[in-house]
Amino acid sequence: MKHFVDGLHALAMTLRNGFRKPTTVEFPDVIRPRAERYRTTFSLLYDEQGDQLCIGCLQCERICPSEVIAIKAAGKKESPVTGKKRGYADDFVLDLAACIYCELCVQVCPVDAIVMTREPETPTFSREDLVLTMERLYANGKNRQRAWSDGTKLMAMQEAGRAAPPPKAAHHAKAAEPAKTAAVEKAPAAEKAPEAAKANEPAKAPEPPAAPATTAPTGTEAKP
Ligand code: SF4
Ligand code: SF4
Repeated sequence: MKHFVDGLHALAMTLRNGFRKPTTVEFPDVIRPRAERYRTTFSLLYDEQGDQLCIGCLQCERICPSEVIAIKAAGKKESPVTGKKRGYADDFVLDLAACIYCELCVQVCPVDAIVMTREPETPTFSREDLVLTMERLYANGKNRQRAWSDGTKLMAMQEAGRAAPPPKAAHHAKAAEPAKTAAVEKAPAAEKAPEAAKANEPAKAPEPPAAPATTAPTGTEAKP
């Protein structure tokens, strides 16, 4: 009987859920509103004159903890826009499949050439489709909405954080100070400790006088 009642409960629950309004949406046909600082993929940018901003300095490649950036630096060559000599990247690949979205690559870029975007890549079943080539990265810069940050803004945030530690951290620093002083005051006592320990040692009993050497009788000398 109990199993029959449980079965009825399960059926009622299934029917109730079957007629509920769905809580999911058909991404990417329907896109929910995104948070202001939402960031999801990457783009490389051009400057106002249409020249590639990336100077091929490799800083983003070096700092990436997942090692998913691979750049082939071109060295210095003439800019097709200004005619001046400057650095370029010949090739730039970012494998999004293993990226942990730490944004360090964006933060270290000295010219704000690499940024994150608010629009994600098109969902895919293949990992190869998540490898962002230089062409795709520059196309993202033109076609996808940028996230709020770039290297300059992230560095400014970090500097501001260094200049004014949060009140909690300041409180902890103050609390730690007396403990440090106490430790310093205790230090000489610790140095004296061995001497005090020596003073507390029980006096050693005087050693008994050495027994007089016995002379072996003639003819019974010990053999070497
Ligand atoms: S966000 Fe972090 S893990 Fe992803 S590419 Fe940049 S540095 Fe590498
Ligand atoms: S994206 Fe920025 S950090 Fe990376 S190589 Fe280009 S200029 Fe350097």
